[in-house]
Amino acid sequence: MGKLLIVGTVAFDAIESPFGKTDKILGGAATFIGLAAAQFKLDSAIVSIVGDDFPQSYLDLLKNKGIDISGIEIVKNGKTFFWKGKYHNDLNSRDTLITDLNVLADFDPKVPSNFKDADVLMLGNLHPNLQLNVIQQMEEKPKLIALDTMNFWMNNTMPELKEVIRHTDVITINDEEARQLTNEYSLVKAAQKIQAMGPKYVVIKKGEHGALLFHDDEVFFAPALPLEEVFDPTGAGDTFAGGFVGYIAETENISFNNLRNAVIHGSNLASFCVEKFGTERMLQLTKEEVDRRLDQFKQLTQFDIELK
Ligand code: AMP
Repeated sequence: MGKLLIVGTVAFDAIESPFGKTDKILGGAATFIGLAAAQFKLDSAIVSIVGDDFPQSYLDLLKNKGIDISGIEIVKNGKTFFWKGKYHNDLNSRDTLITDLNVLADFDPKVPSNFKDADVLMLGNLHPNLQLNVIQQMEEKPKLIALDTMNFWMNNTMPELKEVIRHTDVITINDEEARQLTNEYSLVKAAQKIQAMGPKYVVIKKGEHGALLFHDDEVFFAPALPLEEVFDPTGAGDTFAGGFVGYIAETENISFNNLRNAVIHGSNLASFCVEKFGTERMLQLTKEEVDRRLDQFKQLTQFDIELK
């Protein structure tokens, strides 16, 4: 059983999708990562920041999933990070309507002392300088440093982002972001360029079209499960990342073969996330449901062709 340290936003989200609207609900990259990783046998902790407008009941939800929240700072009279997004009709694309950094603007992350030797460090979506700051606080080099980011940071902090990418082993980004980061339309070329920036492994998420894992000349592809109900894709990328690193932390194995399985676990968990608004589905998820769907994944992708 490994130790997983997660850094990222814990937030209020407001979402508009063709299926409805929500007011401020529980969201944030670290929240979705933590809830997905909680499906695995590991010790996990979140480093983040909220204002005192953030309900204790939301923090309790994370704590009750076994996540160490001692690294979530609560700022007196502070306002929690707020993000508002609107999905287009196909749910594959969205516009960010509001990003209010609030307490995140002055965040000075503090890694709890018992997580400074974490096996896996997941740098969730956050200002790249803060991601770098957390790497520097680690007393031992983690076996794996994974990074997720978003177009917001590419638009505003590209040089800092490139610096943190240099220190990571694996990056998980979506196809549009991979293209923006590299100016390459071909995802194969984009992955090669990203590997040249530092990470040995590159995961490119393609929403309902699955995910690709690149390592040197090897490529692995996992489809997304075709689903009957898709309500809200918010957090699907983070949930994928949480499942991916959660499985790696549990198995403590960073071979390419094991990373392939990690991609399947990430895709599996992300398939639940999109079925309800926000974190709702992830909060109710049972091990039986997860296992049943893993089996569906197997059925979906197995075939028996003999090469002559
Ligand atoms: P995803 O749908 O996986 O891209 O992640 C959406 C989550 O990321 C939401 O819960 C937001 O609170 C959070 N988020 C949105 N914008 C940012 C940002 N610029 N930095 C960090 N987290 C963000």
